[in-house]
Amino acid sequence: MTVKLETLIDRSITNMRDGINPTVKESALELIKRAYDENIYVQITSGYRGMEEQAALYGQGRETYVYNGKDYGDPTKPIVTNAKPGQSNHNFGTAIDFVLMNDDGDRAIWDVNEKWKRVAEIGKELGFKWGGDWTSFKDYPHLEMKDLNPNSSRPMLHVGDTGEFVKQLQEALTRAGFFTGSCDGILGEMTKQALINFQEANNLSADGVAGPMTWEALDMY
Ligand SMILES: [Zn+2]
Repeated sequence: MTVKLETLIDRSITNMRDGINPTVKESALELIKRAYDENIYVQITSGYRGMEEQAALYGQGRETYVYNGKDYGDPTKPIVTNAKPGQSNHNFGTAIDFVLMNDDGDRAIWDVNEKWKRVAEIGKELGFKWGGDWTSFKDYPHLEMKDLNPNSSRPMLHVGDTGEFVKQLQEALTRAGFFTGSCDGILGEMTKQALINFQEANNLSADGVAGPMTWEALDMY
């Protein structure tokens, strides 16, 4: 009997764990549904992963790997990752690994076949990056999302920059009470000075450049 969609979803939610990013979780479930509509049965095998778990994975295939005073080296197994603790998107809940299941849903199929590639394709449509596209170490089960932190999607802004983000910056500086000019989307000397004053008042490095810390501080206004 063909595995039920709910079964694949329930197992995947369990495997992704509580630390998974909500957007990634939602997108993963959508991935499972869209694949199911094409008679492709996908299950998520892992999502969030703690630092110690990452250390244990990194230790696989390596003679020795010490993390927080413990040796995780296990040369009897093959190398599965080049990411140390803190270097994998799994550690931040923004990556998932998938596998295809047989029609009954009781056996994993690890062949990177046409169906597998189709799942990767759907994943990319949903905004994931696929480990199978990596040039160095191909990681076929791996899908990850970047730029989920709103601060990382806003650019660093310097004097001379123009555009919508500069306008947003000027508006925030105005609300914060540091800018009285017109919000014209041009980062000139007056905007820069307002930025420096704002940074000084918020104990940020007062360089007149809007980086992630400054954007975050401006979010309060
Ligand atoms: Zn992965």
